[in-house]
Amino acid sequence: MGVSSASDYIEIFKRMLTGERTTRTMNALATDYYLTHIRADFGDTAAQSAINSVRQHINYYEQVGKSSLPSLRALVEKHATLTSLQDDAQHLHEDFWKKVKEALADTPTARQQRLKSAPKIPEKIEVRTFVFKRNPDVVAEVLSRAGTTCEKCEQPAPFKRKANGHPYLEVHHKIQLANGGEDSIENATGLCPNCHREFHFG
Ligand SMILES: [Zn+2]
Ligand SMILES: [Zn+2]
Repeated sequence: MGVSSASDYIEIFKRMLTGERTTRTMNALATDYYLTHIRADFGDTAAQSAINSVRQHINYYEQVGKSSLPSLRALVEKHATLTSLQDDAQHLHEDFWKKVKEALADTPTARQQRLKSAPKIPEKIEVRTFVFKRNPDVVAEVLSRAGTTCEKCEQPAPFKRKANGHPYLEVHHKIQLANGGEDSIENATGLCPNCHREFHFG
């Protein structure tokens, strides 16, 4: 059965977030939209649930023998690849700050006790990292579109770049590249460092 009303969409969305099998088939465009936005707004773990819920739906649909959903399956696998292209370095970084937070919540005595027996030479590991080759024209175009003011708060850039004297603004992707966002001027915005930090850390 296909999707017919707004409440169907909400039901599907809820199931995607919890990883339950969706009971109705959304078209590829809507599925793509949901998966992209769930990854952007709720992160990789939520995206993984959403992918699983759509996968379960496809499996169920194909098992009951109605027909297959090859384009939907291809789409879901595309999202699965994007989500698994997770960056080890990024994960290490996040994990590290989680541990700092835990250590701060601990008592100084417990911390100092651990420090006594901790190795002083840090372990070195090799990590796999993915980088996007961004288009310099997108950055240049967005910076020139923004001019001297932040595109969010509309305040003047707080200072000038030392290297070239241009107003200091940072180009931010509204849907992050890591979440499947496009490297396009429509998906990019020129922000002051304050607004940029707010976008990422709230
Ligand atoms: Zn701003
Ligand atoms: Zn950004």
